[in-house]
Amino acid sequence: MDISGKTKLVGILGYPVSHSLSPRMHNAAYRAMGLDICYIPLPVKPPDLQTAVQGLQAVKFLGANVTIPHKVAAAGLMDRLDESTAKIRAVNTIVNTESGLAGHNTDGEGFVRALEEVTTIDYGSAPAVLIGAGGAARAIAFALAEKGIKELAIINRSRDRAVALKTLLGNHHSSLPVSVLAPDDVGRELVTASKLVINATPLGMKGNLKSVPVAVDNLTEDHVVCDIVYSGSGDTPMISAAREKGAVTLGGLGMLLHQGAASIRLWTGMDPPLDEMRRAIEFK
Ligand code: NAP
Repeated sequence: MDISGKTKLVGILGYPVSHSLSPRMHNAAYRAMGLDICYIPLPVKPPDLQTAVQGLQAVKFLGANVTIPHKVAAAGLMDRLDESTAKIRAVNTIVNTESGLAGHNTDGEGFVRALEEVTTIDYGSAPAVLIGAGGAARAIAFALAEKGIKELAIINRSRDRAVALKTLLGNHHSSLPVSVLAPDDVGRELVTASKLVINATPLGMKGNLKSVPVAVDNLTEDHVVCDIVYSGSGDTPMISAAREKGAVTLGGLGMLLHQGAASIRLWTGMDPPLDEMRRAIEFK
């Protein structure tokens, strides 16, 4: 990489970020596009987020991605949010414009594009189970609601965050049936009766079988199981367990690819080369 005084910078704000494949994927895209842009990891702890976000303007970054645990907090630090991000109130892409920082969220688009690459799902007849209620879960819940998902069960460690997501959804999709459950209250029947099961928590990142967030023993080939966590060592425990049951599976790399491509469109106004990006993250 030939970095000069003219090189433009983007990065990823998160903690931790050392596992992130985004720098590799983005830098491959900019190289292939012939753009003098460099993407760097920006490990930032929660108390330093505001200073780091202000720093993006001070050092004239093009913008940044935002990941765990900052997506919801970042929404409150923007000068403006685009229309759909204002509903979600979680930001994964910051664009540094002349009139201030603009917050966007490409996670929902990335998730749906990846999902539709592996299955032709009839959303209107598909009850979904969503594990997590953080920034990524919010974006996925809204994307599914906009697709007309039949019903949604939100399972989260902290009930208040799950209830907050249900309330946000209710403000914009009042006819969508949404239930909230604690992880210990999730029976096998709920998972069996669903069509789509999505993990949007970091559980599984450590590659430990105990990290399968809901019981998957009753899954069948009629289920679609998605884990937005991507593990450097291959499938997460949830994806492995679901595949053994014959379910259609989607790991986190597909969403990573498509949410990243959408961020690049926001920063450059150009369509990035998906094949180069896939190769950079060893997409199978
Ligand atoms: P976030 O806003 O911090 O939310 C984290 C969510 O996970 C919350 O619901 C939290 O529950 C739950 N959680 C965290 N630790 C947990 C634990 N030990 N046990 C049970 N639940 C736990 O984070 P995020 O930005 O949504 O990201 C979530 C995960 O998705 C991360 O691993 C991230 O890397 C991944 N991700 C992947 C992609 C992709 O492109 N593949 C895109 C976005 C995110 P509480 O509410 O109880 O704290």
